[in-house]
Amino acid sequence: MEQKENIWLWSGEASPPSGGSGAGGRKEIDPALPNNYIARMALRDILVIPDKRLRVVSKPVAAVDTSVRALAEDMLETMYDAPGIGLAAIQIGEPLRIVTMDLAKKDEEKDPHVFVNPEITWSSEEKNVHEEGCLSIPEYYEEVERPAKVRFTYLDLDGKLHEVEADGLFATCIQHEIDHLNGVLFIDYISKLKRDRVIKKYTKMAKQAAE
Ligand code: ZN
Repeated sequence: MEQKENIWLWSGEASPPSGGSGAGGRKEIDPALPNNYIARMALRDILVIPDKRLRVVSKPVAAVDTSVRALAEDMLETMYDAPGIGLAAIQIGEPLRIVTMDLAKKDEEKDPHVFVNPEITWSSEEKNVHEEGCLSIPEYYEEVERPAKVRFTYLDLDGKLHEVEADGLFATCIQHEIDHLNGVLFIDYISKLKRDRVIKKYTKMAKQAAE
């Protein structure tokens, strides 16, 4: 998701799980340790609509290995640089079910999370409306209604399975990112009129950039 005008959107007490290494998908790189993927960490280009790859259904990660951890590092770096609060691998052109997220407020320490193969296992009847943005649809924001709470499973970067419950911004963000893994964008939830207008605008911009 896109971070609007450098203001961290925040609602409620929802907080991504944190704690010991691996818990909540948190993985910090210790520069003192030999590390065969840190050198490859790189800023990647973020795909923007109408890029067709954003409509691809991403494949599950078969094994959380070095290449997956390297990709997650690229995603985090790219997400922080944008800046954004959530990123799906397909947004940098990698059709794998990996999501990165950091919902820390601006004045708080970074709180990076990586969710591999995230899957929603329960959604609340109760709905919530959040204004959403997306790094693949820059500077466009609309209110979207989604279940207020969800539970989901995921693998951390050690390949361990977790299940967590999310509400507030965390719930909105994980649903937005899992949608990306299924080729769904938040503009799919707004009126056709508004959606057509925004797609047209970005199609025109892409054509102008290609000229
Ligand atoms: Zn997005």
